[in-house]
Amino acid sequence: MARILIVDDSRTTRKILRQILEESGHEVVGEATNGEEGVLQYKELRPDLTTMDITMPIVDGVEALQQIRELDPEAKVIMISAAGQKHKVLAAMKAGAAEFLTKPLDEEEITERINKLLGA
Ligand SMILES: [Mg+2]
Repeated sequence: MARILIVDDSRTTRKILRQILEESGHEVVGEATNGEEGVLQYKELRPDLTTMDITMPIVDGVEALQQIRELDPEAKVIMISAAGQKHKVLAAMKAGAAEFLTKPLDEEEITERINKLLGA
């Protein structure tokens, strides 16, 4: 069981993610709607795991990932990308993203990647 922070500007995606994560026994400790909010919540909550959408207003997912990894070099952040975001995905890899998931989200894939990351 992990404490997870969800960062995504889409309410629908946050809802789907929360449902999948809670069903697999994890605790969603926070939800943020843009990268700036995500970094602030990360500082406050220190989650075991963060899911990070790439495309968001104000501060995007790649920049938020960079800021979080500066705060906490051990931070485990799973990036959620859409098709056609190769450059952003590469930038996120360089910034130390732990894993990648692609929209549309697949429940089995999410569960599997998260368990792998947590060493379960
Ligand atoms: Mg988005």
